[in-house]
Amino acid sequence: MSMIHGELNGIRKSFLTRIEQLYEFSVPFGQVITFELAQKMIEITADLNRELAVYINRRGQITSVAVGDLTTVVLPEIDGRRSSNRLSGIRCIHTHPSGDTELSGVDVASLKQVRFDLMAALGQKDGVNQVSFGIITDIKNDLFNTETIGPLSLEDFIELDITYLTAQIERQLELNTKTSAIAETERALLVGLERQGKWAIVDSLKELAQLAETAGAEVLGMTWQKRERPDSALFIGRGKVQELSLLRQEKNANLIIFDDELSPAQQRNLEKLLGVKVLDRAALILDIFAQRARSHEGKLQVELAQLRYTLPRLGGQGLVLSRLGGGIGTRGPGESKLEVDRRRIRDRINDIAQQIENIKKQRNLHRKRRETTRIPTISLVGYTNAGKSTLLNTLTASDVLAEDKLFATLDPTTRHISLPDGREALLTDTVGFIQKLPHHLIAAFRATLEEVIQADVLLHVIDVSHPQYKEQSQAVFQVLRELNADTKQLITVFNKTDKIEDQEFLNELLQQENSIAISALSGAGTDKLFNLVENFLKQQTIEIRLLIPYSDSHIIAKLYDVSTVHSTDYQEDGIYTVISLPPDQINRFSTYVIGAEHNE
Ligand code: GDP
Ligand code: MG
Repeated sequence: MSMIHGELNGIRKSFLTRIEQLYEFSVPFGQVITFELAQKMIEITADLNRELAVYINRRGQITSVAVGDLTTVVLPEIDGRRSSNRLSGIRCIHTHPSGDTELSGVDVASLKQVRFDLMAALGQKDGVNQVSFGIITDIKNDLFNTETIGPLSLEDFIELDITYLTAQIERQLELNTKTSAIAETERALLVGLERQGKWAIVDSLKELAQLAETAGAEVLGMTWQKRERPDSALFIGRGKVQELSLLRQEKNANLIIFDDELSPAQQRNLEKLLGVKVLDRAALILDIFAQRARSHEGKLQVELAQLRYTLPRLGGQGLVLSRLGGGIGTRGPGESKLEVDRRRIRDRINDIAQQIENIKKQRNLHRKRRETTRIPTISLVGYTNAGKSTLLNTLTASDVLAEDKLFATLDPTTRHISLPDGREALLTDTVGFIQKLPHHLIAAFRATLEEVIQADVLLHVIDVSHPQYKEQSQAVFQVLRELNADTKQLITVFNKTDKIEDQEFLNELLQQENSIAISALSGAGTDKLFNLVENFLKQQTIEIRLLIPYSDSHIIAKLYDVSTVHSTDYQEDGIYTVISLPPDQINRFSTYVIGAEHNE
């Protein structure tokens, strides 16, 4: 007779027989549990109202069955794999009669103590089978860290590839013991597809390398494949995956980053075949944004984009894996780690969306106020690293973070500037655009971006010293198009001209209408830029002279609200004022107008 462990007093013979029958189950290699076994355990638990545990080895055999809560269960003897980077080779799957699958303190403690491959709790609530499970993620100063995941559906849990998962955990533990407490830099290989298009693959990968380095990874190499259409299962061809796998081993890379967005299935398949974390450009950009968000709203927007990106990628083991050891792709804004629980993610998405909505309402109020005060607004747009923040600093003598890094600026910064004619304006610096900007991100930042580009004047800053300045400028227009702002009038600011020796080349560039050459760093050309901006603003407003009788002097306060007041002169017959305002506002004061001129 097989042994049933635990407290068996008072359990009827018929139950014991049913419990004993659990030994007859076996689980296919690589699978965590079968549906039939889980179902049987849940059934018996419901009838008996006691915890039930099975211990399964890596060959899928049931090594022990136990009744009672885990404190009373005599844990089965684990054979001598004492090296600290090995797991026990046994997983414990047990039931919670209450239906609540949350792991108890005792569950987690025994996970650590026995070093189970995995510790799972099954429960049935309202007829739905759910599972939560815990795994060891790493070891620091001889202490194990664990992570619990779930509740997820039994179906999702069965999907888990236990062989793969345990191999990854042990790899992580090995790394931990080797490198002790020093955080490991991620060593990345970059992969792209060469296709007909604007960006040469090498340039695109170079940019990806810069992004990877900005995120803190070390780039070991890049490889690409000529192919018009991505493979639906693997993105690149199967042969290329094999080649990549060899390259990965040779270079000892622990991260592979693809230059285009991967479908959740592609990402899962690639992780499985390559045995390392696989990310795409979108996840990388989101990670950088998460690290750089400073304002409350910026953090919310990034987190929202990250969660929406993550949600369809849950279910398989991919996400569990990428949690091991943390790193790029697992980091939320601030100190937080990205949520991995489907239900909690949905709640959080709703919660954040609501918060952003509230902030938006607030901001609209502010904007209304600003619109009525009619301070002209100027916004800087441009490819990341074009020199927008440097220009803002030079024009306003402030010190916004300007760095030779992609996306140094995330949250919009607004400063007052005074134009040569004494007129005040607001200048806004914003996030840089980049090719293949994740659409989740554009969606999350839409409100902010829309507000930024609703400015009276857009300055499109272009780094003309960059070999891909044309492609970069196209990418900016692409995003503007997505925001329906591509038809807006703008001033093209050719920047970093101090790095250009070829005067001929500059002259040719300046053939373009409303363009100007400057160096944001040295300040050269910024006077001309001021003049150009001033002219632009004048084109959009009309200067008029008014005579306001003293009986209507309350109008003056209104004028300050809706227009730029250039002068007021108190004479005997009334107040003479000169103001500038948008043409559509003019009829409000038409009775007082004594002269108008269009400034061209
Ligand atoms: P942003 O991403 O568009 O805000 O770009 P930044 O203002 O952060 O500038 C990116 C890098 O370009 C920084 O290292 C700046 O010092 C540099 N830079 C900006 N403007 C100029 C310029 O006119 N000339 C030169 N040589 N470098 C510049
Ligand atoms: Mg910047």
